[in-house]
Amino acid sequence: MSRFLSKRLSDLVPYVPGEQPTDMAYIKLNTNESPYPPSPMVLERLVSAALDKLNLYPDPTGKALRQKIAAQYGLEPENVFLSNGSDEALAFAFMAFCDEKTPAAFADVTYGFYPVYCDLFGIPRAVIPLRSDFTLCADDYVGIGKTIIIANPNAPTGLAVSLDAIEKILAANPDNVVIVDEAYVDFGGDTAVGLIQKYDNLLVVQTCSKSRSLAGARLGFAFGCKALIDDIDAVRYSFNSYNVSRPALLAGEAAFDDAAYYDAMCRRVIATREKTAEGLKALGFQMTASVANFLFARHPEASGGDLYRQLKARGILVRHFDKNRISDYLRITIGTPEQMKALLSALAVILGRET
Ligand SMILES: *Cc1c(COP(=O)(O)O)cnc(C)c1O
Repeated sequence: MSRFLSKRLSDLVPYVPGEQPTDMAYIKLNTNESPYPPSPMVLERLVSAALDKLNLYPDPTGKALRQKIAAQYGLEPENVFLSNGSDEALAFAFMAFCDEKTPAAFADVTYGFYPVYCDLFGIPRAVIPLRSDFTLCADDYVGIGKTIIIANPNAPTGLAVSLDAIEKILAANPDNVVIVDEAYVDFGGDTAVGLIQKYDNLLVVQTCSKSRSLAGARLGFAFGCKALIDDIDAVRYSFNSYNVSRPALLAGEAAFDDAAYYDAMCRRVIATREKTAEGLKALGFQMTASVANFLFARHPEASGGDLYRQLKARGILVRHFDKNRISDYLRITIGTPEQMKALLSALAVILGRET
């Protein structure tokens, strides 16, 4: 820390992204990226003729892409917001809808960026514990007078909250914004997008990073009534009006033109998830009923930290969170069937269960 850092930030503990080591080639199952490449249409669209225009700023309104996304979800472009990864949309929403008098409320076991945004922006927080099985109880969120953030499906548990529960929370907090972070919704969750016309306090945040194989492009999006979208747009124009790059806009347009490709990739990931869950169960692992592109698993005879380190030594990276309630668990991204086979073989060796 330099002697110049603002006092306000002296205690800030930044979010720690999954490691991206370069010392050797790892099987990367630690950051929930897609193991499959972007649609061929994305690669065709990002040709040199299009990239020739990199001397020019991108369209700050992202109009063409917003139109495409709106059409696909049955909304108007005014209901769609674009961001540099969905982390940015979440950050803008924290800035816009939380303050001293309106704390942020979220689960104790959820996406690690929420508390970091609170610290960065000086927002007080209410941490609402999940039940012992990591499920979320809608009753805990009734009339709480706070801005509510729910990851659905949740990370790192992979568990989904029903749309009925989301609607109950929306209806019980009409004077507060409810942010539903749907980064993993395409792998088996139900989107709350259909509730936007009914609830002016709903902001749904999604991303192209997980189900659309574009983590490297940094493209997120959000849905809400026009007034909510205008609010986060005002924050965006006050921070970085060109937040989505030209290549990201092009990639996004092509991705939404090839929805069939991504549906097929999601089905593959889901099938691999179910197969991997069976394999892990056979090795004695216990798991949550994940509907995301990862599994959340623990073994009664081995610690999460030990398994993480032994897998890494064998060239396989998974995510281990040394945090309260979840330090026994591994979060394992669903890769290709071959990668998951390598994972299961390595675990069998580590656990002494080779056949
Ligand atoms: C991965 C993830 C995001 C955001 O990812 P971006 O790459 O910034 O779009 C948001 N929320 C959750 C819960 C995630 O796991």
